[in-house]
Amino acid sequence: MSDNSELHRRRGAAVARGVSNAHAIYIERARNAEIWDVEGRQFIDFASGIAVLNSGHLHPRVVTAIEQQLQRFSHTCFQIIPYEGYVALAERLNAITPGPTAKKSLLFSTGAEAVENALKIARYYTRRSALIAFSAGFHGRTFAALTLTGKVQPYKAGFGPLLPDVFHVPFPMAYHAVTPQDCLAAIEQLFKSEVDPERVAAVIIEPVLGEGGFYIAPAEFLQRLRALCDRHGILLIADEIQSGFARTGRMFAFEYSGVEPDLMVVAKSIAGGLPLSAVIGKAAIMDAPPPGGLGGTFAGSPVACAAALAVLDVIRDEQLLARAQQLGSALIAGLRKLQARYHHIGDVRGVGSMVAMELVRNGSAAEPDADLTRALVQAAARQGLIILSCGAYGNVIRFLAPLTISDALLTEGLSRLEAALAEVTRLPATAEA
Ligand code: PMP
Repeated sequence: MSDNSELHRRRGAAVARGVSNAHAIYIERARNAEIWDVEGRQFIDFASGIAVLNSGHLHPRVVTAIEQQLQRFSHTCFQIIPYEGYVALAERLNAITPGPTAKKSLLFSTGAEAVENALKIARYYTRRSALIAFSAGFHGRTFAALTLTGKVQPYKAGFGPLLPDVFHVPFPMAYHAVTPQDCLAAIEQLFKSEVDPERVAAVIIEPVLGEGGFYIAPAEFLQRLRALCDRHGILLIADEIQSGFARTGRMFAFEYSGVEPDLMVVAKSIAGGLPLSAVIGKAAIMDAPPPGGLGGTFAGSPVACAAALAVLDVIRDEQLLARAQQLGSALIAGLRKLQARYHHIGDVRGVGSMVAMELVRNGSAAEPDADLTRALVQAAARQGLIILSCGAYGNVIRFLAPLTISDALLTEGLSRLEAALAEVTRLPATAEA
């Protein structure tokens, strides 16, 4: 059997370095919220493959749906021979997407691909070209999505030129004293100094920044953004790729604001680990591009559609919205306890089970501690816990355990986190941990 170091040596020789690895731990198998590596070590998964496994690794109902689909057919290309699974999934996505306006959907494979297509639809519908996104936002790595992504290192540097006509404004970050008013004023300033609002096709926003650090857009901010878009005929695109599918305790985080976006992009947890994404939006906007204008060979794979329909059943039948609230509250309570002991934790925040802690020096928001954050991710893995960092300053730990995790594993994960904190800060763990 292969061991981790041998596999990592082969990886180094065979796989280009542009795709990084958080760990040199090679997976053998996984189930729900646990992973076992090729050396037989068990890990608790607080990462979910970056927010993809809200329904856990290999949920039995998802596995059954995939197996049953594989008995029938695996591919036709929806543009050639359509199938019910795609249509049924579109119907269900239309029904759960926020807002009263009738919706239509299109399916793709990755988050970036959904973002690209949302931009194409927005431009076609508005006949405008300019786009507004937020600093520290993340929308993907393909050229248009990358242009919208609001972080140069390591995503954009060296890959230009990117799309013209894209503008970035600050995202509200209460912990860093960036207020919603600052952000709205930046947009107004943009309209004065950079771009005529009548040329702007769309504003794209994550309701909770994912890669950017789990900063939460206040409901009132999204409401005022909606009003600003309406004033100028600008479309509002919700990027719920990381925040969607019950993660925040609602099916989509936009629901907290009562705002209806014009278009919404989803991916990640939609299909329980299979690659699938969607653009869902107001029917009149979605229908703007003519037949043949949109599509893709693998877009809306029938196997992924079957998995997604099962995921939606799991979210409903296992009441994962309520579970996300419960788990999130328990996690935040646990992290606040740690914060009382470890002053390195400057902030603990979250909505539902989209929870993060921000690591700083001297208790100061102005002194982000990216080194400690990196060290903690590695120490946690040594303790048998997989966590992820994020944040504009690389100093945020995000917690994305499956919403199907047991209370016992969540508690065990928190004590492994405390052991890792003790190791990297050299403060002993509390006795009761
Ligand atoms: N938008 C958001 C909010 C994301 O978090 C991500 C992925 N981290 C993407 C878009 C891009 O998705 P993908 O990696 O599937 O292309």
